[in-house]
Amino acid sequence: MFCLFQPHNPGKGVKVENMGESESVLLPRSAALTVSKAKGKTYIAVIIGAGPAGIAAAVYLKRAGADPLVFERDEIGGLLRNAHVVENYPGFPEGIGGPELVELFKRQLVRWRIDTRMEEVHSVSKEGDIYHVSSESGEVFAKSVIVATGTRPKRIDIQGLEDVELSKVFYEIRDVPPAVKGDFLVIGGGDAAFDYALNLASRDIHVDVAFRGEPRCLPLLLERASRSEKIRTHAGTELKSVKEEEHQLVFGMEQEGTEKEIVADYGLIACGREPDVSVLPPELAENWKEASGLYLVGDVRRGNHRQVGIAVGDGILAAMSIIESMGSGK
Ligand SMILES: Cc1cc2nc3c(=O)[nH]c(=O)nc-3n(C[C@H](O)[C@H](O)[C@H](O)COP(=O)(O)OP(=O)(O)OC[C@H]3O[C@@H](n4cnc5c(N)ncnc54)[C@H](O)[C@@H]3O)c2cc1C
Repeated sequence: MFCLFQPHNPGKGVKVENMGESESVLLPRSAALTVSKAKGKTYIAVIIGAGPAGIAAAVYLKRAGADPLVFERDEIGGLLRNAHVVENYPGFPEGIGGPELVELFKRQLVRWRIDTRMEEVHSVSKEGDIYHVSSESGEVFAKSVIVATGTRPKRIDIQGLEDVELSKVFYEIRDVPPAVKGDFLVIGGGDAAFDYALNLASRDIHVDVAFRGEPRCLPLLLERASRSEKIRTHAGTELKSVKEEEHQLVFGMEQEGTEKEIVADYGLIACGREPDVSVLPPELAENWKEASGLYLVGDVRRGNHRQVGIAVGDGILAAMSIIESMGSGK
């Protein structure tokens, strides 16, 4: 199994270990860092985000001979790390766990020795035909920028949320420690909420799922949840408040005009997501289609159509456009 992780000294490259075969190499110090400091090199493409869209774009570009630079602020794999089982991405007839699919994507990054910097991009600006991409270690220059930054969870504002321990209320299941024990309340009635509930139930955790109105998830997920002894759903229930009592969380809910409480050890909020275009100045974020060399790919531009296959296709399409614009064919 390959793994990439953040070096102690950010910006110096990505360490790659082939743990299964006890092989370990440090990818060459980012050529980007060296040349960008000298202000000599302009990248053909800088990719912001190493989720499925960014990875697909990077692999296509690299194979086509254009050496991209990828920035990732968190971990390789993006939102896919949250997915319990992916059953609709072709090639895996039995389905595959999100984290397992991420491992395969990572291996492809490693296999193609793609220059990946584990750093957050702070901003992108355009001067003439050249993009300036700023991160902690400075500025790099590029003829094109692929923004594959995905989405961020919508925050909710309920009474008491600020006062409960941050380690007890999560917005992403990937932030829940793997060995966690205790009951969960999942807030939300969409695919992500039910995927989270099934994921937790598979770890032998008891889960309450509460949502306003009716569930909005795939019938398949609802059916699986209703078959699980670990999952209990509360339709037509609105979360109003939360407080901590004797190391547990007491969630104040309203169901059809009646107040009730749900007690749990942890909360997991899945109340929708919004595109994360914060790296772009407002004029570029609004008019990105008119800006030559700027591409938004994957979830960041797809509204409710958030799927791995769409993200991968978007990434490849942007990479092909870049190669075609260089006139170098495929
Ligand atoms: C619970 C759940 C289950 C799912 N199940 C499925 C499924 O079964 N099938 C399916 O097709 N899809 C599924 N999805 C959706 C799928 O995960 C997404 O559609 C896909 O990951 C989108 O890829 P992306 O590359 O566009 O964005 P993301 O995966 O969100 O990746 C964006 C990346 O950009 C990075 N980033 C953001 N800003 C910066 C910055 N400023 N600097 C550097 N890096 C940055 C982020 O850290 C992240 O790694 C599921 C999603 C969830 C939450």
